[in-house]
Amino acid sequence: MEFDKKHNQRTDMSFDPDFLENKYKTERDKRIREDGNDQYIEVKGEFSYFVEDPYVDEEIKREPVEDEVEVLIIGGGFGGMLAAARLREAGIDNFRIIEKAGDFGGTWYWNRYPGASCDIESYVYFPLLEETGFIPKKKYTDAAETLEYCRILSKKFKLYKNVFFQTEVTSTKWNEETKQWTVNTNKNDSIKANYVVHSNGPLNRPKLPAIKGINNFKGHTFHTSRWDYEYTGGTSYGNLTNLKGKKVAVIGTGATAVQCVPHLGETAEKLYVFQRTPSSIDERNNKETDSEWLTSQKPGWHNKRRNNFESLLTGAPVKEDLVSDGWTEAFRLLFGSLRSKAPSKFRMLSWALTSITSQEMYKLGFKQYMTNKAMTHMDIRNAIQIADYQKMEMVRARADEVVQDRATAESLKPYYNQFCKRPCFHDEYLQTFNKPNVTLVDTDGKGVNQISENGIMFEGKEYQVDCIIFATGFEVGTDYSRRAGYQIYGVDGISISEKWQDGLSTFHGMHSKGFPNCFFFGPAQSGFTATYTYSLDEQSVHLAYILKSAREQGISRIEASQEAEDKWVKTIIEKARLTADFQEKCTPGYYNNEGKINQNPQNNFYGAGPIEFFALLKKWRSKGSLDGLTLKS
Ligand code: NDP
Repeated sequence: MEFDKKHNQRTDMSFDPDFLENKYKTERDKRIREDGNDQYIEVKGEFSYFVEDPYVDEEIKREPVEDEVEVLIIGGGFGGMLAAARLREAGIDNFRIIEKAGDFGGTWYWNRYPGASCDIESYVYFPLLEETGFIPKKKYTDAAETLEYCRILSKKFKLYKNVFFQTEVTSTKWNEETKQWTVNTNKNDSIKANYVVHSNGPLNRPKLPAIKGINNFKGHTFHTSRWDYEYTGGTSYGNLTNLKGKKVAVIGTGATAVQCVPHLGETAEKLYVFQRTPSSIDERNNKETDSEWLTSQKPGWHNKRRNNFESLLTGAPVKEDLVSDGWTEAFRLLFGSLRSKAPSKFRMLSWALTSITSQEMYKLGFKQYMTNKAMTHMDIRNAIQIADYQKMEMVRARADEVVQDRATAESLKPYYNQFCKRPCFHDEYLQTFNKPNVTLVDTDGKGVNQISENGIMFEGKEYQVDCIIFATGFEVGTDYSRRAGYQIYGVDGISISEKWQDGLSTFHGMHSKGFPNCFFFGPAQSGFTATYTYSLDEQSVHLAYILKSAREQGISRIEASQEAEDKWVKTIIEKARLTADFQEKCTPGYYNNEGKINQNPQNNFYGAGPIEFFALLKKWRSKGSLDGLTLKS
């Protein structure tokens, strides 16, 4: 690679940055729509069959329960399991988990579609690996193994005796007199709890595009997160034998579709893949675990590894790349573009810095660096943008190399910065479009907007199919209680929807004034990690620390102070500037609130990255004073 040192720019570029800049803008502009998130319909009423649980054999019938627990955890996914595990470690055993599914697993309980797997390295993704001693089979795990791991974890921490499955919370209400929450469920339970932990999953509610005629379709249909194996045959490893002789349509080409499309293409007589925006598909290169290597790791290796991975992904300084895969390579390219000249602070979230202004860089504390003229602000922006173009050119070249039909290959090329959408890694997806029974229907950013009795209508043509599969993702930017499926009523009966109607307001993303003894898990106003289990574990450690301290100090009421909350919201808004301009240039999707960026910058995660956020929480704990929380005994 040749470098123009003066401009900190590659000189051997085989692409035209001006052309790409325009192309990215054109592709973005044609996808921006006025209705934003409202283009999707809520999966309820006549659509509620899309969220029925296809994985339970029979409904659990039990008498309603009226009792009392110290901690009630809503959600039995990794967040709920980790919260419970960390509470047990802290000696707090009086808790109950409420979970709507038939087992633990959360996202992995629901997402068992063929090919479902995780492309974050398993040695990083699986939490508490040292505690369980589990050896994942491969570098990248799959849905079946992850679900198995959830069961191992639940057994190890004896969680099965503390859970109500197939139970949905309908409301939680605070009682100031008793200083307790009352949690009601669809099984008519009424449970009193000193503390409630809301770990209901950021991507838990399937969403459907509001397509004209969606309910007129006479064939079979389902969402990928409720895969109908009775209809397709097979398992999450594929072999969908019942699809022989069937015509199938998939709507959507995000991370989920990328994994299930190869299996559908394998057996369906005809497969149409309806694309609005192509995903970026990089190599995956999965491989068997070397168990000798894993078992010979020194204690503390797991935390070191996941910290190393997330550090690399956010530009925090690291000496080596332990994971060394498509994710870290992408970031190494971006940061490498800054060469060693840029201070580590500059490398933080460097992908977001492609659009930041000099003034903002000054405000963010890069003044000293800016004035020593080692590299100007424009140099940095250019270098990062060029590195991103370079990486995406490689991704686009792969489509050309793999896909035989020229027009199809062209349609499969993503024209946006790599982290505008979730990057995908797959070694069979692009190849599937070489099969004679598979057709990509490129809607050129328009999306499917009409369904007939017999199939999908697009530009005057009817694509007749037996089955339509919605790979259209999950609600993100909608009201909290709509996504959670229940309302939270705090002090004076104020609901969380009312409190947050003008924007999220929390302290550390976990507490919200007016909602005492209530703990929120998730990325909102908190640290957002590619390895989501890592954030959940950090939140669990934090929760356990607070509840243990409360117990030791005889505290029974914990609430964010107004001052601490205001300060935190201000921090979130300030840090959100780091990513806002970057997102503005991106094609719409759930990463950038469907293109409606910064309508409210407080509805964001902690913009300086998870490593800084975790360090901040750790420092807060080390003070031991529970600063920012109003405490009553
Ligand atoms: P996404 O929200 O990422 O994708 C939804 C897809 O539906 C997009 O391609 C979207 O197009 C498309 N779409 C929506 N409306 C229409 C329409 N009217 N016509 C045509 N297409 C439409 O959901 P996924 O379930 O794919 O993924 C959700 C998240 O889950 C991922 O981002 C990732 O975080 C996680 N995941 C991780 C995996 C992994 O580890 N490999 C695997 C699977 C999921 P457009 O882009 O234009 O909006």
